[in-house]
Amino acid sequence: MKYYSTNGNAPIADLHKAVVKGLAEDRGLYMPEQIKKLPKAFFDNIQDMKFQDIAYNVASAFFGEDVDLDALKDIVYDTLSFDCPVVKVKDNIYSLELFHGPTLAFKDVGARFMARLLQYFIRQEGQHEQVNVLVATSGDTGSAVANGFLGVEGIHVYVLYPKGKVSPIQECQFTTLGKNITAIEVDGVFDDCQALVKSAFMDEALNQHMKLTSANSINVARFLPQAFYYFNAYARMKAQDKADQLVMCVPSGNFGNICAALFGHAMGLPIKRFIAANNANDVFYNYLQTGKYEPKASVQTLANAMDVGDPSNFARIYDLYGKSHERITSLISGATYNDEQIKETMRQCYKETNYILDPHGACGYQALVDGLQEDEVGVFCETAHPAKFKEKVDDILGIDVDIPDRLSAFMKGEKQSVPMTKDFMDFKAYLMKQ
Ligand SMILES: *Cc1c(COP(=O)(O)O)cnc(C)c1O
Repeated sequence: MKYYSTNGNAPIADLHKAVVKGLAEDRGLYMPEQIKKLPKAFFDNIQDMKFQDIAYNVASAFFGEDVDLDALKDIVYDTLSFDCPVVKVKDNIYSLELFHGPTLAFKDVGARFMARLLQYFIRQEGQHEQVNVLVATSGDTGSAVANGFLGVEGIHVYVLYPKGKVSPIQECQFTTLGKNITAIEVDGVFDDCQALVKSAFMDEALNQHMKLTSANSINVARFLPQAFYYFNAYARMKAQDKADQLVMCVPSGNFGNICAALFGHAMGLPIKRFIAANNANDVFYNYLQTGKYEPKASVQTLANAMDVGDPSNFARIYDLYGKSHERITSLISGATYNDEQIKETMRQCYKETNYILDPHGACGYQALVDGLQEDEVGVFCETAHPAKFKEKVDDILGIDVDIPDRLSAFMKGEKQSVPMTKDFMDFKAYLMKQ
């Protein structure tokens, strides 16, 4: 499969290059030249298939030309070592729980898949030089990437995070791992971490010294595997005869997750329509109303993984529908909720159904409550386990959320990190010694 840039000004890339480079030379996002439809027989039988097999079929359509099929099967099975159930919340509203992965984040799937795919390319080339992944994080991405790449041979990961600005649980998720994961504690804010990573990619001497790549969420190998979730959700709903008028609602920040769902739709997945649920960061919502895309600075909210003022995957969605506002609005609608509304939704849902929403999932749930028609069945993504936002959830609901064993296990490890200033010369000097 060949990949082109959404900016239309970069050379066509193969999968290997698209994965290693992440972003095209013209700063556009890579798009596959073709999205293959899956055969009718696949959809006819999907309700009897398990998650891994469904995912393997989807992965073959995207990556089957470029990756040996047996190897691809291994990668998919290794990536999906957990379940992602659809749970009934009330009436016609279901929660697709995407938080059963190793770090309880839906980003686990893309991170692990990318790690194993990169490893496949390294082995195939018989390459002996270590590949170094640099990732800046404000929390969730770092833990998913670190755990996804943990123990993957031939790859070393450097996680840069702002000192004192990630939650204690998140910090444990990438500072206690050891092995091929190094946590770098930067005396600064998230933007300083991101600036250090960007400078590193541009520094010639450093790039001659070591092979650098990024595990950013715009990477095709990170966002596309999230399509697996939606095929599986459809299958589980179809098994209950509830899939004829399915509405899929995705709490969105950078729009990678919903973009993967839309790729699924383009492959023939019979979802009737989509809702992009936002917090107070309403750039996409406004685009749907006005046809104008006007990025702005993000505002901080309770659902902080969705605090994005210029969602990078908008470019992909825009490209997918031929830049047509009409086509986009005929399939996708939007919703936006401020912090007060998020709190009220969490309280109301808990009172009515006993289901504990996290602030991100709350946006998705409420968008269905507000927007679902009578003959439709709605599935929203619950993108985070409520224990990940324990202080907030406990406070809003007046309860004491249980911390799952998997999460508390991270808290037992010993924190190891390399202190760093925000001065690029210090970071460079450190990397030059590795
Ligand atoms: C990353 C994330 C989102 C937003 O997903 P996008 O793909 O960026 O739209 C929503 N909720 C949680 C909990 C996340 O970690």
